[in-house]
Amino acid sequence: MSSLTVSGVTKSFGSGPAATRAVDDVTLHVPHGSFTTVLGPSGCGKTTLLRLIAGFLVPESGSIAFGDKIVAGDGVRPLAPQARRVGYVPQEGALFPHLDVAANIAFGLPREARGGSQAGDRVAEMLDLVELPADFRDRRPDELSGGQQQRVALARSLAPQPAVVLLDEPFSSLDASLRDSTSRAVRRALEATNTTALLVTHDQNEALSLADQVAVMRAGRLVQSAPPSEVYLSPTDPQVAEFVGRAVVLPGTATEARATCALGEVVLTEPTTGPVALMIRPEQVFVDLAHNEGDKAVGVRGTVEEVSYYGHDCAVQVRLDEGTSVLARMAGVRHPGPGDTVHLRVTGLVRAYHPAGAP
Ligand code: ADP
Ligand code: MG
Repeated sequence: MSSLTVSGVTKSFGSGPAATRAVDDVTLHVPHGSFTTVLGPSGCGKTTLLRLIAGFLVPESGSIAFGDKIVAGDGVRPLAPQARRVGYVPQEGALFPHLDVAANIAFGLPREARGGSQAGDRVAEMLDLVELPADFRDRRPDELSGGQQQRVALARSLAPQPAVVLLDEPFSSLDASLRDSTSRAVRRALEATNTTALLVTHDQNEALSLADQVAVMRAGRLVQSAPPSEVYLSPTDPQVAEFVGRAVVLPGTATEARATCALGEVVLTEPTTGPVALMIRPEQVFVDLAHNEGDKAVGVRGTVEEVSYYGHDCAVQVRLDEGTSVLARMAGVRHPGPGDTVHLRVTGLVRAYHPAGAP
């Protein structure tokens, strides 16, 4: 195992004015034994980045290193994929349909180690690691569910003890409940083997819940890489904020540690001064239902326009008296209905952004 370092890597397809910069000056470090998810919309360059790291593509500039060994770029002749010791788990269809599970997993081992009892031991160990029963070894892929197939694909990629494991949207073909259990099993297997891993996804929940670090990509560029809570609570810009979750973005005026906006006064994550865009997560908007005679409501008054009830919580769209529409998230136990008067206030710290071009 080793760390993974991508430094200023660029890769275009096509030439002339029609060229696409699929990966544009990307720099990313994945520490040894840690798990990074790459999050971005379809077409932003995620698969291209994985293929560059795996060695199926060669960067036109920049370099890629495993530990301190450069495998591509910097004038070094690119190391062939098979020499990089990379495990690659594609989106789906990773397994050989005509081979049983044991043969599929053993296929990852060096040729001379594929037969014999040692290979059998390794297969058993890998099945155990990915939390599949030992007797699955004789099944064929079409006798497994989608989630089980993806666990076998991971087992195959881990069998030869790769330096780095790359997973390309491995759960996207699974339904929601299977996706959750499979992804957690995969995370445990990677943790147990202290594997350096990079997982690509366009699913925000998956990216945030699985990783030590989330790398957000947009149009070929890496726009932020940070721990999940930082990406969620302190996104680089309002676009990242809206990509990783729901966000209320309001214009405001900052004076040192505080700012005023349509939702009243808020406390900032970092002091600043002047006109700002404020990024507030809907669950930070506290909804005060107190509207009985004599109750003293705190906050900015508005009228509920719409309620989406999810059971565990609900999303409440509120039109403030002054005209702005704001989304709040609250526990589903007691919630208002459309037409109700409510008072809103912001809890917790708020990230402020200066308008484009401003200092
Ligand atoms: P993602 O995996 O994030 O959906 P990709 O890395 O597959 O994105 O693609 C990024 C961009 O590069 C897209 O515009 C895609 O059309 C283009 N692209 C990817 N592979 C090739 C290729 N082999 N030839 C030409 N264009 C490609
Ligand atoms: Mg892709």
